[in-house]
Amino acid sequence: MSFKDLSLEQLIDDIKSKKITKEEVFQYFLKRIEKYDYKIKSFNYVNENWVNSNTKDTIFQWVPIGVKDIFCENWIPTTSASNMLKDFIPPYDSTVIANLTKEWISSIWKVNMDEFAMWSTSESSAINTTYNPWGNNRIPWGSSGGSAASVAAWLVPAALWTDTGWSIRQPASMCNVVWFKPSYGRNSRYWVMSMASSLDCPWTLTKTVKDSALLYDVMNGYDEKESTSLTWKDLIDPSIWDKKDLKWYKIWVPKEYFEEWLDEWVKLRIEEAINKLKELWAEIKEVSLPMTKYAIATYYIIMPAEVSTNLSRYDWIRFWHNSTEAYSSTDELFMNNRWEWFWDEAKRRIVLGSYVLSAWFYDAYFKKATQIRTLIIDDFNKAFEEVDAIVSPVSPNVAWKSWEKVNDPVKMYLSDAYTIPASLAWLPGISVPAWFAESEDSEKELLPVWLQILTPRLKEEKLFEIANVYEQATKFWEKNPDWFED
Ligand code: GLN
Repeated sequence: MSFKDLSLEQLIDDIKSKKITKEEVFQYFLKRIEKYDYKIKSFNYVNENWVNSNTKDTIFQWVPIGVKDIFCENWIPTTSASNMLKDFIPPYDSTVIANLTKEWISSIWKVNMDEFAMWSTSESSAINTTYNPWGNNRIPWGSSGGSAASVAAWLVPAALWTDTGWSIRQPASMCNVVWFKPSYGRNSRYWVMSMASSLDCPWTLTKTVKDSALLYDVMNGYDEKESTSLTWKDLIDPSIWDKKDLKWYKIWVPKEYFEEWLDEWVKLRIEEAINKLKELWAEIKEVSLPMTKYAIATYYIIMPAEVSTNLSRYDWIRFWHNSTEAYSSTDELFMNNRWEWFWDEAKRRIVLGSYVLSAWFYDAYFKKATQIRTLIIDDFNKAFEEVDAIVSPVSPNVAWKSWEKVNDPVKMYLSDAYTIPASLAWLPGISVPAWFAESEDSEKELLPVWLQILTPRLKEEKLFEIANVYEQATKFWEKNPDWFED
């Protein structure tokens, strides 16, 4: 067994019991990145010998973690994968990084993403296109494609990401690793570059459910610098790990999630996963979440509105560069800079967002969307009066080929159908594997399919409990792509 086959928890246990040293762990992962990352291009920046001087000498000191290139980190290049920020080196730490470096993990490396966390394939990065370690020239999905691909290829034992509509849930599931998304507000967004502030949620991606809980205990908590962060800390009761079945759990499968876009193969695998939950004694009920059909439209009004506001700070004057185009007014200078340095999707969302927020259309679009968001939240609240958890597919399809859908933004937006309702309702969620399904193209490659589990807001412990029972019964995380030797 090599280090790559160990979960974060096992790595820490082995360091504690002095079976291995932390320097060995650090060097091992560094070498793996040198050896394999050229195939998947998940890293934007690798820090070969840096340990934060504030860090105590903890067990975790040298256990590396991949960090999405959107978390600001003192004197470490942070680009949001955009040309707009290609030379930006922040003079401060985001709270997430500050907490990790003070108490916990300090060897931190930056992983690739879609520009400013928009789009869904990791192809809109100005730095590199990242590839899925499972597929032959397939995308890892996005925007947190680098986070998912680096953990799936065992280049780091865990990674940080942000999720707005699906940004880690799709990539993690397409690359075969566990995503966990806490309730909105569990973590500080301070100096995490904003995409859509009422939806953005920073968190972790790991190989096992227990590893997610390990990082959850360290990372969640109040930040006085961030007005939406919850004012108390949550700790997971360790006794949940002893549970072996799902007796007394009522789990709800919303029928709207199995209609329209769902690929036949994916459907079959998800049904098998639901049968597995039944074997574990969960009570399964099929019911309805009728507002689901409005979720995508609602998201694609609220999100661009917030994006257009957040991206207005990037005029390329405050971040030190200018277009060389001639200009005769400040507006024209801003326009030249943005035109030159944003990718198409950022421009598309700025235009859409400014439109729905404009005085003429605000009531018809933005206000209406916020009202529908409340109805979506009510839908979930009603459902959770009857059940403990809701399960569904994460995505209607398996990973596409690179550049296959880049000119089809609508198809891309529709893939968000199963993850967006939970984002709008600020719910926590996690994923567990539902085995493999064939790709819809002629190559018929077998690619990962995952099941999403959602619980009511602030009920993370229940989520970990259900996911762990399922994971223990399947042991799926031990599988990895066969081209990764040691
Ligand atoms: N695919 C979605 C979008 O492009 C989600 C992005 C995200 O969660 N950051 O908006």
